[in-house]
Amino acid sequence: MRIQRIALSGFRNYDEETVEFGPDVNVVTGTNAQGKTNLLEAVYLLSGAHSFRTRFDKELIGFDSDWASLLADVEAGGREQTVRLLFRRGQRRAVTVNGAKKTSAELSGVMTAVLFSPDDLYLIKEGAAARRRLMDTAISQLRSSYASVLTDFNRLYENKTRILKDWREKPRLLDTLDEFSDGLARCSARIIRYRASFVQRLAETAAPIHGDFSDNREALGLTYKTVSTVTDPTAPMQEIYYQICEHQERHRQAELEAGQCLTGAHKDDIEITINGAAARSFASQGQTRTAALSIKLAEREIFRTETGEYPVLLLDDVLSELDAARQEFVLNRIGGGQTIITCCEGEAIRRRTGGRVFSVEAGRIRREK
Ligand code: ATP
Ligand code: MG
Repeated sequence: MRIQRIALSGFRNYDEETVEFGPDVNVVTGTNAQGKTNLLEAVYLLSGAHSFRTRFDKELIGFDSDWASLLADVEAGGREQTVRLLFRRGQRRAVTVNGAKKTSAELSGVMTAVLFSPDDLYLIKEGAAARRRLMDTAISQLRSSYASVLTDFNRLYENKTRILKDWREKPRLLDTLDEFSDGLARCSARIIRYRASFVQRLAETAAPIHGDFSDNREALGLTYKTVSTVTDPTAPMQEIYYQICEHQERHRQAELEAGQCLTGAHKDDIEITINGAAARSFASQGQTRTAALSIKLAEREIFRTETGEYPVLLLDDVLSELDAARQEFVLNRIGGGQTIITCCEGEAIRRRTGGRVFSVEAGRIRREK
């Protein structure tokens, strides 16, 4: 899968610009605030997703423009397709593929992208929610049934939490508590099974990448963690379901007193270690970046195995804080599909990459190599 060409009009700080990307590595250089991340955002939007920076399409439109459009030639599944996105103030975005109207969801079937942005460092350093989000986004892309279980789970979780919080004022709510608990246990069991097998796969794929990246000096470990009630997250679903039900029954009173759900998939996490030490507490800045990036690259590899094609890889500002050897890995050794990398350094990078180099200045893009 690759993007051959993109034309931006009225998009963010771009007036009218066209870029022809190369099939493998593309480096976009420029000083701060020139439009590097804006360009990546444009490419990312072609995958049908929302922007990674805003939930509001109107923010994508140039300050002096009434609309913004992205027009791109994309090669996917051996076919060339022309994707067009149009954003207008106060209206929904319009999407067409080869001239035919599509929804954003349909667009995600045309092109997929894996993005690494500096925000992804939270994956390593922040709380468990970021890691649950990683599992949820990746598994949903691979299995549509997972996305629907997750929607059910979130709805049940919200309902049950409301009951546990409000039952004193509205005792009638307790009539439905057991029903919600049962539904929640069922959904949790399914989610736990999915996540356990995904993390196992992610661990097996990310470890060798991280090893390569760090010249085999570091061993990356990823372990799925769920509530201790579940003794084996890879056990048959029915077994997990029973264990959660049993815990809920024994802790019914405790849940009512605490006003929250005490067991279930909402407590999951991934334990990340580097050479055996918890990355969250001990990883250096470079190690944090290396680990987060290895996880993203593993996600891309899994996607390739499932679909037969590499998604387009978008790397925003990954090179800073990496030493020369690790930069070299990003610039020349990722291999496989198409990669678009942004960075601030210009000349030094130009000499070191085998791919195309572009420079961006105040919304104008020039090919340098
Ligand atoms: P850095 O190296 O600091 O990350 P960058 O090259 O990635 O910089 P971008 O995030 O792409 O910079 O942003 C470039 C500029 O685009 C910013 O100065 C911002 O004010 C401007 N910008 C953002 N949104 C819009 C918009 N809707 N209309 C016009 N300009 C915008
Ligand atoms: Mg940027």
